[in-house]
Amino acid sequence: MAAAGDAKGKALVTGGGSGIGLAVAQRLAAEGYAPIITGRDAGKLAAAGLPYAVMDVTNRAEVFAVAEAHGPFAVVVSNAGIAPTAPALKTGPELWETIIATNLTGAYNVAMATLPAMVDRGAGRFVAIASTSALRAYRYTMAYAASKHGVLGMVRSLALELATTGVTCNAVCPGFTDTEIVRGAIRNIVEKTGRSEEDAMRAFTGDNPMGRLVHPSEVADTVAWLCSDGAASVNGAALPIDGGELAG
Ligand code: NDP
Repeated sequence: MAAAGDAKGKALVTGGGSGIGLAVAQRLAAEGYAPIITGRDAGKLAAAGLPYAVMDVTNRAEVFAVAEAHGPFAVVVSNAGIAPTAPALKTGPELWETIIATNLTGAYNVAMATLPAMVDRGAGRFVAIASTSALRAYRYTMAYAASKHGVLGMVRSLALELATTGVTCNAVCPGFTDTEIVRGAIRNIVEKTGRSEEDAMRAFTGDNPMGRLVHPSEVADTVAWLCSDGAASVNGAALPIDGGELAG
């Protein structure tokens, strides 16, 4: 019998110890799923107060071991990601490979480790936290854009091939969101340029027609909706959560 609070089944959220992933995991718990969050930093995961497993998404064996130990999942949210920046022509092979390994191959590892069991069960939701960077480019983020465009290509391909299995695959595409990734980038701008924090913040809010950062809970709400019965026909979508940025 399912324990109270996990009536809807297990939900894996990679990178669930902070930011968007943590907001998603908390929201899925409130919806009646039993979330398990993963990441590399055990202390951060423990502080989040949800069941967790230490797992580096770039380590295929670790990802398959977690899927084996904790699956099958009703919901998988591939969220773990990094966003270091560099001018395009100063993007060296190490930076390129680290970003692709984490954001793109990491999402591939998670998909391959979890989707077969979801297909076997004939039900499931796979959601990738992509980015507006899956749909447009920004300066100084060439490798990140390549990784997120790649994630969207993977999700669309999965959606087509799994369409008759009961499993849906979608990508959500947040604009700049108020998490450590953006806060760290703001600190970096302040440090390197001497600009004020408010001024540096405008570099991120300026792209959003609403003039603000997206809140992690807004991304979590969209993920929760994608997991609902009402979203059963939503498949292969790239849903912008960007205050209208991509409309312009
Ligand atoms: P955070 O830095 O708060 O979250 C990223 C999470 O990913 C961390 O918890 C980190 O955990 C985990 N992570 C990073 N690398 C690995 C790895 N190799 N293996 C396992 N886990 C890893 O930032 P956000 O919440 O902002 O980012 C979440 C996702 O949202 C990312 O994919 C990001 O690209 C995307 N996104 C963010 C936007 C933003 O503006 N903030 C906008 C659009 C998309 P740990 O350190 O424990 O490994």
